Amino acid sequence: MIHLNGKTAIVTGGANGIGRAIAELFRDAGASVVVADIEEASAMEGIRCLCADVSISADAVRVVEEALAVSGRIDVLCNNAAYLGQVHGALEADEAEFERCFAVSLMGTQHFTKAVLPHMIRQQSGSIINISSVQGMVGARTSAAYTSLKHALAGYTRSVAYDYGLHGVRCNAICPGAIQTRISPKPGDELHARQIGKTFLGRTGDPREVAYAALFLASDASSYITGAIIPVDGGWTAM
Ligand code: NAP
Repeated sequence: MIHLNGKTAIVTGGANGIGRAIAELFRDAGASVVVADIEEASAMEGIRCLCADVSISADAVRVVEEALAVSGRIDVLCNNAAYLGQVHGALEADEAEFERCFAVSLMGTQHFTKAVLPHMIRQQSGSIINISSVQGMVGARTSAAYTSLKHALAGYTRSVAYDYGLHGVRCNAICPGAIQTRISPKPGDELHARQIGKTFLGRTGDPREVAYAALFLASDASSYITGAIIPVDGGWTAM
């Protein structure tokens, strides 16, 4: 059976949506879970919630230190927080938009990864899971900055997997498709219809359906999987 008994996990952006589902499933699977979010999380039983902006490296160091205080180890890091930005093509996208996407989606992932790696290397084990997007695998309309940074996460994931594999550290990315969270278009919207039209399953996904993929990657059941970019998209990127 897949479980996370005895493991300590950090989930960024875990106050809402997909991150919250991941944090709750990790807890249910037996992990000690620390959530780091820019927003104060509404109560999640048995989960430690810390306020942190992933784009600030000192915040990442602080969160990792507090998580270490739980058990002296960090077994799982899920880099989930992202800046979604505005809807724009390259012509309209301004520098500030790109910079914020870069600072949160990519550098936030780097700050947390850099902070946990020494501990995972010391332990000779660890699983890092980066939440990318189908927009990290294929193009999307009017989304230049977000799509660029989500593609960058694939390279980052493979690079970390390559460099630290011999230390027992695995690094993988999940690419969710249209998942129903507060940021998603509502059923009935034209964009919602367009999104489900891109899937084989004819529906959007539930955050828990992404969380189960994260649970697998976090657990020892995926011990021979690293450097993988895994879509959880109802078939979107297979079309
Ligand atoms: P969400 O509901 O907006 O949750 C993201 C959480 O991250 C929010 O609580 C947000 O806080 C927090 N956050 C934002 N910036 C942060 C920062 N700088 N530091 C710490 N926390 C920060 O989004 P979601 O739909 O669950 O998306 C989660 C992940 O899945 C993202 O990486 C997203 O790109 C990816 N994804 C989502 C979908 C989808 O359809 N939903 C599809 C593909 C990929 P605030 O509310 O204060 O901003």
